Amino acid sequence: MKIIIFGPQGSGKGTQAELIARRHKWPYISTGDIFRYHLKNNTALGQKISSYVNSGKLVPDLLVNQVVQDRINQPDCALGFVLDGYPRNLAQLNFLNQITKIDLAMVINLSDETAIRRLAQRLACKCGLSYHLTFNPPKQAGVCDKCGGELFRRDDDQPDAIKQRLEIYHQETEPIYSDYKKDGVLHVIDGDKPIEEVYKQVDEVISSIK
Ligand code: AMP
Repeated sequence: MKIIIFGPQGSGKGTQAELIARRHKWPYISTGDIFRYHLKNNTALGQKISSYVNSGKLVPDLLVNQVVQDRINQPDCALGFVLDGYPRNLAQLNFLNQITKIDLAMVINLSDETAIRRLAQRLACKCGLSYHLTFNPPKQAGVCDKCGGELFRRDDDQPDAIKQRLEIYHQETEPIYSDYKKDGVLHVIDGDKPIEEVYKQVDEVISSIK
């Protein structure tokens, strides 16, 4: 099954996408994670995208589209995948429609207020893990449970960047939902619940169309 998870930053869409992917053994594709990998390793792509990602702006469509096309053309995506963070605007939606057909699009709904509150409590580690100070705190303050690295707040989780990302979400990403609604594949999930309860809703939707 080819699934897209939408939602504002802080909605927990990445967590839900990973849970689905693990449970169903579909590859998890997060454009944000792919870009963070390139930033961390200072690749040629990483150098091109750093100013966009660090300030919370969208990376140019041509670059994102290429990254997604290359990934979903890999053999492990033939039977399905869980896409997180793409498409984010009309140009990306049109591109994706040309290269594949999506079976299910889910929106993890959350108010801006709650999203901002949650993101203010998020800490990341360079190994890729992230923590939430209330819901998923590290065992030792400021230190990653897995690799012992020092936890930090992502540049794009700073207050100005969060505001910018939410604005882009409302202006550019929300309007594309109508396309999936028209196709009858859009489902809205209440994201203002604990992780397990959100996943229960997600699971019910997936079971209903399998
Ligand atoms: P995320 O973790 O999904 O919020 O992505 C982190 C950052 O990566 C975003 O703020 C953008 O700078 C960039 N990014 C991720 N996905 C896309 C996309 N589909 N289009 C443009 N930029 C993206």
